Amino acid sequence: HKYVYDFAEGNKDQKDLLGGKGANLAEMTNLGLPVPPGFTITTEACKAYLATGEEPAGLAGQIAAHLAALERAMGKRLGDPADPLLVSVRSGAKFSMPGMMDTVLNVGLNDRSVVGLAAQAGGNERFAWDSYRRLIQMFGKTVCDVPGEEFEHALDDAKRAKGATTDLDLDADDLRGLVDAFKRIFSKHTGREFPQEPREQLDLAIRAVFESWNAERAVVYRRQERIPADLGTAVNVVTMVFGNLGPDSGTGVAFTRDPASGLQGIYGDYLANAQGEDVVAGIRNTVPLQELERIDKKSYDELLGFMARLEEHYKDLCDIEFTIERGKLWMLQTRVGKRTAAAAFVIAGQLVDEGLIDLDEALHRVNGAQLAQLMFPRFQLDHEFQPVAKGIGASPGAAVGKVVFTSARAVELAAEGEPVILVRRETNPDDLNGMIASKGILTSRGGKTSHAAVVARGMGKTCVSGADELDINIPQREFTVAGQTVNEGDVVSIDGTTGKVYLGEVPVMPSEVVQYFEGSLDPEHIDNPLVKAVHRIMTHADAKRRLVVRTNADTAADAARARRFGAQGIGLCRTEHMFLGDRRELVERLILARDETERDNALAALLPLQRADFVEIFREMDGLPVTVRLIDPPLHEFLPPLEQLAVNVAVAQERGEDVAKEEALLAAVRRMHEQNPMLGLRGVRLGLVIPGLFAMQVRAITEAAVECARNGVTPRPEIMVPLVGAVQELETVRAEAERIIAEVTREQPVEVLIGTMIEVPRAALTAGQIAEAAQFFSFGTNDLTQMGWGFSRDDVEGAFFWRYLELGIFGISPFESIDAEGVGRLVRIATEEGRAARPGLKLGVCGEHGGDPESVHFFHEVGLDYVSCSPFRVPVARLEAGRAGV
Ligand code: ADP
Ligand code: MG
Ligand code: MG
Repeated sequence: HKYVYDFAEGNKDQKDLLGGKGANLAEMTNLGLPVPPGFTITTEACKAYLATGEEPAGLAGQIAAHLAALERAMGKRLGDPADPLLVSVRSGAKFSMPGMMDTVLNVGLNDRSVVGLAAQAGGNERFAWDSYRRLIQMFGKTVCDVPGEEFEHALDDAKRAKGATTDLDLDADDLRGLVDAFKRIFSKHTGREFPQEPREQLDLAIRAVFESWNAERAVVYRRQERIPADLGTAVNVVTMVFGNLGPDSGTGVAFTRDPASGLQGIYGDYLANAQGEDVVAGIRNTVPLQELERIDKKSYDELLGFMARLEEHYKDLCDIEFTIERGKLWMLQTRVGKRTAAAAFVIAGQLVDEGLIDLDEALHRVNGAQLAQLMFPRFQLDHEFQPVAKGIGASPGAAVGKVVFTSARAVELAAEGEPVILVRRETNPDDLNGMIASKGILTSRGGKTSHAAVVARGMGKTCVSGADELDINIPQREFTVAGQTVNEGDVVSIDGTTGKVYLGEVPVMPSEVVQYFEGSLDPEHIDNPLVKAVHRIMTHADAKRRLVVRTNADTAADAARARRFGAQGIGLCRTEHMFLGDRRELVERLILARDETERDNALAALLPLQRADFVEIFREMDGLPVTVRLIDPPLHEFLPPLEQLAVNVAVAQERGEDVAKEEALLAAVRRMHEQNPMLGLRGVRLGLVIPGLFAMQVRAITEAAVECARNGVTPRPEIMVPLVGAVQELETVRAEAERIIAEVTREQPVEVLIGTMIEVPRAALTAGQIAEAAQFFSFGTNDLTQMGWGFSRDDVEGAFFWRYLELGIFGISPFESIDAEGVGRLVRIATEEGRAARPGLKLGVCGEHGGDPESVHFFHEVGLDYVSCSPFRVPVARLEAGRAGV
């Protein structure tokens, strides 16, 4: 079994076997770029080790053989006292993962070879001892779990003793002393001396990389990201090159385009006389990559040439790690680089222009989550505003408001109309009301799956979590950051995309991409590269998608906006808002009706109001389908809350007022009280229990359609019955509805479809029967998820989803992204059985999932005809449907 590959033996498509880093090192080697020689131990070897706890048979021999070949090629032996070969040991899984072991540099150094290294470097003792102390530090920390701070403290002590500001000010003697101190730290924590035998160093490091695959953080991360647990990691053993040999050496990172804007140019950082992670660690100030031209023009030109070749080869933005050893350039890593959402669109557009990729490929290079990010309003930043802290961008958006430290105060101030930002160390379920009342949430602890982050995303609120520079004092109602104290009531601005926190009020500007969708920016006539790229890619997505995209809209204004955003109809028009406001009074009359006449009068009063609403909506959606859902929520939701009513009655009685009506209302509310309203008298059940209610709605819809048709508008109404679980329910409603439709359309024919939501698991499982009575299905995936999992959406997200996410029980809330295996299976069954019973049955989805990128792919694959989502999500759904279609 072949467990070890020389770099010359692999290529970039072997990420499964060689990991990302190894596959790309091989690719660069084969492109003829100067990669220090080395080899990769495969993920297979890792898996075998993890299965048995021992290196698989043959691995040690293969490593020895490759090492010997490397030694021959370099003309040095690993750890040779006179002229040592040194290597780095670098982990490299298919996906990079937090919690995996870092890299160990300078393996092969010991008390003797450190002297040889100095001699070979022309007597540069400082360099040799600096390399040795780094080995002990990295090896101790990553291979033997020695707390890293201990090394850092010892380094700080050495600098302080010397009055040095950077590690460059330490000389060879200081570093020799530091090596002794590091060794003492090492043996104190491990109970053994720092290993002097080079091959033992190498084997221990390799083994530690294998084992880090199962480090707790890595395991949880994989569960959350749905990365299979059995991929294993590869290990790269790479000949060391030295950027810390003096001013003619150095190390840097580079990007082939600007990863922030996507624009072409030279982007990167360089640090002279440094090794490895010094560039990113911020130990010393780096210089912009352009400066390298002045420092070492030959290497600079060569690097630019390599960067151009890599881009051409990978046909994408690449990021690069390089080191210059005494004027010789070495390439240490490349990969297709991360980028911002804006850069993703701009780069994809540019690559099409450059003929490197086609539009189908460009579609794959961007995604709906990125587009959604580009649609949030942004801060208008100039030099005046510098962030005071940076946390995790946990839920995107730009929020400005007055600082509050408690949920109660948030509610109070918000009630006065003040925008507030809730600041907490971390949030918990008690903070829910405060979170609802706030514009944004800022915490000093927790990551992307903390309570604050999860709940904020669920609410669509801006959230920055884990801004640990904030020192928050809740009792004092203040926090300090960057030497400043911020009190309750002071204004802060938080950016939920970048995680940055600003003091004061940063002006907010609307996103250009939204202006474009709104039609106020013409992509042909403005010079904005982002808008041009979005326009081009969206146009292609529309050409490629099979799924129709509709919108959820209850008002004519929403319908109009969604249409500008590209909606091709309404997939869900809820009728319950039509029962609110002044109309509550009529609903009360309906509920309190003592006889048929009173009830019919109440319904008759509601009819023209409903009809007028529908007329407006049909007009906005002229020629496009509009699915109207008959009333869904329990009627008592339209009545005042029980406690409030009881108090009112008591107060009025006290005053001796006439409370007959209030008492009747109170009795009705008591009568209608439900333990589990979500599973109670709602949806179709209401229609069957309250005579005339659905009939009134059907009449309003049909009369509105007739009125529109008479006025030259083309209405395409689809009446949707909610919460059906059995075909008999639907048949009953439908019989009555058809009578009404026939009557109303006698003189002015209009086609009105009647269909049902599939949102009760039983409906999905009996879809074959239900399809006999339904002209269309619309999957209500919110309720289907709620009832499929038995999760009360209003209760569970804030209460314990954070814990489920932390434990990796699911990687994302099933209310955010459809649970394809469980709830999705119900959708699949209903699709197949529904279409078997009624060929050509029109199928759509109208839950929140309709605008979720991953879910859109699922619905495409299952074969639905359309998705429907909130107006702002329409472009996202269009894009993802296009991506699913190519
Ligand atoms: P990461 O995945 O965290 O970037 P790397 O394995 O790339 O870890 O290594 C960490 C740092 O050490 C990088 O700056 C890398 O360029 C540097 N490095 C790794 N191997 C070598 C080597 N053989 N010679 C010089 N520097 C190296
Ligand atoms: Mg790296
Ligand atoms: Mg529902």
